[in-house]
Amino acid sequence: MKRVIAMVFLLTQIAFGQSGQRPAGVSAGEAQAVPPIKMFDNFYYVGNTYVSAYVLKTSAGLIMIDALHDQWTNISLEAMPKAGLNPKDIKYLIVTHGHQDHFGGAKAVKDLSGARVALTEADWKLMEGGRDSAAAPKRDMVITEGQTLTLGDTTIKFYVTPGHTPGIASMEFPVFDGGRQYKAFLFGGHNVTSNQPQAFEQMIASVKRLSSTLTGVSAYFTSHPWAASVVEKGALVRARKAGDPNPYIAPADFLAFMKERLTDHEARLSQMRR
Ligand SMILES: [Zn+2]
Repeated sequence: MKRVIAMVFLLTQIAFGQSGQRPAGVSAGEAQAVPPIKMFDNFYYVGNTYVSAYVLKTSAGLIMIDALHDQWTNISLEAMPKAGLNPKDIKYLIVTHGHQDHFGGAKAVKDLSGARVALTEADWKLMEGGRDSAAAPKRDMVITEGQTLTLGDTTIKFYVTPGHTPGIASMEFPVFDGGRQYKAFLFGGHNVTSNQPQAFEQMIASVKRLSSTLTGVSAYFTSHPWAASVVEKGALVRARKAGDPNPYIAPADFLAFMKERLTDHEARLSQMRR
């Protein structure tokens, strides 16, 4: 039995590359629905195969991270009860950044639950001034570097990590597996999608800072699931038997991911400058 567990663990390590590159055939237009995944005792995946949304369950209600967009928001809200989550219990909606695929459903979440909505100052501006500003929720809470947000028994700590946008909100928070606590980190924007050297410089600085600041991260997540194999690991966690390892607990994957993010952006920046 021990050997089987060790093998499953090894396979997990091998099967999931730590790459932030978007795989072929994965886009907003090709997104598929994913049933809610209970990844930890208190942390759920409620996004689709293209863009992430998460729910952090606390003793005083739910914190939703990212709102999805278009029809996907309602698909997600309607699926939550299957995982025992009542979307009316959402107290806070944290939006990682001001791109429509992450904030498009914010008004719908707020209308249903009355949740307070939080973004960084830079990304409130990006959202309010962008081409999808009609979908922007009313200005509410502003996330700042080092700020914490506590709901019931759970505290989130924020990092502002520019690069993908000027005001990416990343965060660390506790997750529990069988009652045991681990540190989780969610990178709110792990890649640069513009061709601006400044954006690459910002991203490189953000990755370096996170790598030197964050310690003891056991599980990492991203605002698009393919960068952290979130959906693939869901299949494993669903098939998990008592005593099997939790596939999301992978400290080495986080370190490898950050290293890959640094070398990837440095290489692309130097290519740009050639
Ligand atoms: Zn984005």
